[in-house]
Amino acid sequence: MSERYARQISFYGIGIQGQKILMQKNAVLIGCGALGCTSANLLVRSGLKRLKVIDRDYIEESNLQRQSLFDEEDISKNLPKVVAAQKKLQKVNSHVQVESFIADLNPSNIETLLESADIIIDGTDNFETRFLVNDYCVKKGIPWIYGACIGSVGLTMNIVPSKTPCLRCVLENIPPFGTIETCDTEGIIAPIASMIASIQVAEALKILTGNFETLNKGLLKIDLWRNEIKRLHVEDIKEKSDCITCKQHRYEFLSKKTYSMITTLCARNAVQILHPNGSKLDLKRLAVRLEKAGYVSFNSFLLRLKIDRYELTVFPDGRSIISGTTDASVAKGLYAKYIGM
Ligand SMILES: [Zn+2]
Repeated sequence: MSERYARQISFYGIGIQGQKILMQKNAVLIGCGALGCTSANLLVRSGLKRLKVIDRDYIEESNLQRQSLFDEEDISKNLPKVVAAQKKLQKVNSHVQVESFIADLNPSNIETLLESADIIIDGTDNFETRFLVNDYCVKKGIPWIYGACIGSVGLTMNIVPSKTPCLRCVLENIPPFGTIETCDTEGIIAPIASMIASIQVAEALKILTGNFETLNKGLLKIDLWRNEIKRLHVEDIKEKSDCITCKQHRYEFLSKKTYSMITTLCARNAVQILHPNGSKLDLKRLAVRLEKAGYVSFNSFLLRLKIDRYELTVFPDGRSIISGTTDASVAKGLYAKYIGM
């Protein structure tokens, strides 16, 4: 092992002790898109004990521009992101336990999915999931690293419970719908995602090896197109605020009983629908039933039905991503008609 990690061990901030500690650590990555692909690659190469990768989506052609773990063959096989990622990551480092979960992280599964995490890395594309993760991490005292990017701009911040402000301290509330740009409208260049993910992993290595003194303590904002790097000082926000999460210890997102069953997805002309009670679909039987409705294909991870300009992708737990519309009622109608509630 010492040969494999020789250059990292030679580095003054890690050393042999740091490497030994790293190899006992479990990380969880939420979202395996542009940020997640780079983070997962770097984390697995660094030699952790275990990396869990959670993502709800499958690979599309427009992902290949920036999602560095995927290729054309994965698309032709209709693979969910985490399945393709796990295969690649395990080839990179067979000594790290890589686990993959095709799931939408929500209050009902967060305890199971994030269990035993030493650190959580944000690779998501939405604030609802980030605030949920923030609630969970503050409650359990687990550090997490926020990351986001759009266009050529990226943001990142470390949230170390009891040491730094939390995401809610900084953002107070979810920005109202429509006020945040999405990859859909703004596009994105790949280098900003690689850069933010690289910073997230560097910070993760510091946290995991106990190098708290060199942590980035601000909200870092980088614009690669305009050549701007800013560090917004948020260190004293926690003292001034009466944060509902880390001061009042009210975990609104974690205790939410009515999680969004229908969500419009970033960068996609698509809507996600969750099955109300979770389900156990037999995709093969569903394929037989839907054969006359349109063009059906399936593998062990998902079933796809093409009808007119719509494409319904259904997972075994009943969750569906309906592309070709951002209209929730149209998506709901298609779901009810073909999959059934
Ligand atoms: Zn807070």
